[in-house]
Amino acid sequence: MEERKQKVVVIGAGPVGSLAALYAANRGHDVEIYELRGDLRDPSTTPLNFTRSINLALSERGLNAMRHANQPRLIDYVMGVTIPMRGRMIHGKRPDGKLYEEAQDYDIHGRSILAIDRGDLNKRLLDMLEEMPNVTFFFNHKLTGADFKRNKAWFEVKDESTYNLRDRSREIEIDFDFMIGADGAHSAVRYHLMKFARMDYQQQYIDTLWCEFQIAPKADSSSSSAKSKFRISPNHLHIWPGKEFMFIAIPSEDGSFTCTLFAPAAIYEQLEADTTGTSIPQFFDKYFPGVTSLIAPADLVSQFQSNPHLPLISIKCKPYHFSSSVVIVGDAAHAMVPFYGQGMNAGLEDVRILFDILDKHDRMTNDDSSLEASQREIALAEYSAVRVPDAHAINDLALQNYIEMRSSVLSPVYRWRKALEEWLSVYVPSLGWQTKYSRVSFGNERYSEVVRKSEHQGQVLVRSLVGGVGLPLLVGGMWLWFRYKGAIGRAAYGVFYNFMGMVCRTIHGRRR
Ligand code: FAD
Repeated sequence: MEERKQKVVVIGAGPVGSLAALYAANRGHDVEIYELRGDLRDPSTTPLNFTRSINLALSERGLNAMRHANQPRLIDYVMGVTIPMRGRMIHGKRPDGKLYEEAQDYDIHGRSILAIDRGDLNKRLLDMLEEMPNVTFFFNHKLTGADFKRNKAWFEVKDESTYNLRDRSREIEIDFDFMIGADGAHSAVRYHLMKFARMDYQQQYIDTLWCEFQIAPKADSSSSSAKSKFRISPNHLHIWPGKEFMFIAIPSEDGSFTCTLFAPAAIYEQLEADTTGTSIPQFFDKYFPGVTSLIAPADLVSQFQSNPHLPLISIKCKPYHFSSSVVIVGDAAHAMVPFYGQGMNAGLEDVRILFDILDKHDRMTNDDSSLEASQREIALAEYSAVRVPDAHAINDLALQNYIEMRSSVLSPVYRWRKALEEWLSVYVPSLGWQTKYSRVSFGNERYSEVVRKSEHQGQVLVRSLVGGVGLPLLVGGMWLWFRYKGAIGRAAYGVFYNFMGMVCRTIHGRRR
């Protein structure tokens, strides 16, 4: 689609920046991508997993954004390298000491989320950009300053070949029509944007660190069938819920699993303090039974001691733009904790929504290029207005889902509610009921709408329960109390008390 040519600069060549560059390049703009690090396709570049999780859960919103990138090969590629995960596999130990696995499907309609290697996806996006004549990469360029009134930006260049021997770096100045900041949670674009826009900003470090581990493929995997190279089911996201912490595993194409330990800083400090490492397998045996048979105790210790222990940050801000010059997307706008598997998905969805809105306003300019900037300013204001409530909603849902993953998955109330909502979605489709998880992961409704509908479902459910079951119990209990005032009355009161406790937990769980 050839439109009026603008110089669009994208800061950050992560998955979100790369997709944004693809969208901009498809519209015929001159696109320049500036990335702090080297080209990740170059083996000498610091691997992404040094600071990032390797495997991610990709779901409908991310896929939908890629479908709209006007690159059919991209979606074909993605579908070819992903592993469907149809549900959670909960691992635990029964009171008699026996280990168990319990599968909980994500969706009654059989839909799956997809495990994907973040690096592979990112490299594929870079390959596609490389083929476009209107795209130029600037690796080893760190954004250090920006003036969004004069549309100028400054970069520190760290390319070995251009080192200034005196200070081992040099600075360049560029100008641009439009900047898209996709430079991650510690965004420099956002930092400079704050000097121009009246930005509200809120940042929270939660009391949880994460560290990655690997479950190796089966030793004989080369000769075995595709499925048997995995040591546990490849079609599930495995969870060892530990109430206050948890361990998860996501499959990779080579038969391995990328695992993550999420635990409070105090637990990490205790384990780090033991230099012999003996307490690490003991800790796993106590809270994550079965893991030491998948990762040998010595490997567990060495992986814990050599892999970084990283914090989790949640960022909310608004607005996301200034004038017609700049907008922030992805983690730069709304870094979130990873417990809904939506961080990258939401970032990719930002790109689709941003360009939908830009296209809509672009059509309104009726090919009068003098209106371009003012129309873009209106479009960016609309983007901030639409996207801020949705990004805030998914940030909150992601924080709440930590409790669901590490503990609620074991609760009968949680399972009962999920089953009832799914039953209604199948047998009374006219009600339009779906679980919150399905709406977030298998649909493209606005996140704020998901929250609204899910709260409504919860209220209807509780009202029906209280009306249909609670009231008769209350009346019956009171009758028994007055009739016998003794043992039976107290028992009836106990039943009623427990029932109301369950209802309260249902409401509380839904609102947290
Ligand atoms: P990034 O991936 O952070 O990329 C930003 C880029 O900008 C980087 O390449 C960086 O080098 C560059 N940059 C930074 N500063 C500058 C500068 N000054 N100048 C130039 N370039 C710069 N999301 C999901 O959807 N599903 C999941 O299952 C999932 N699991 C996760 C598990 C963990 C443990 C974590 C921590 C996150 C997880 N996420 C998940 C979130 C996901 O990783 C992020 O949301 C996603 O990577 C954000 O992409 P991005 O392109 O916005 O930012």
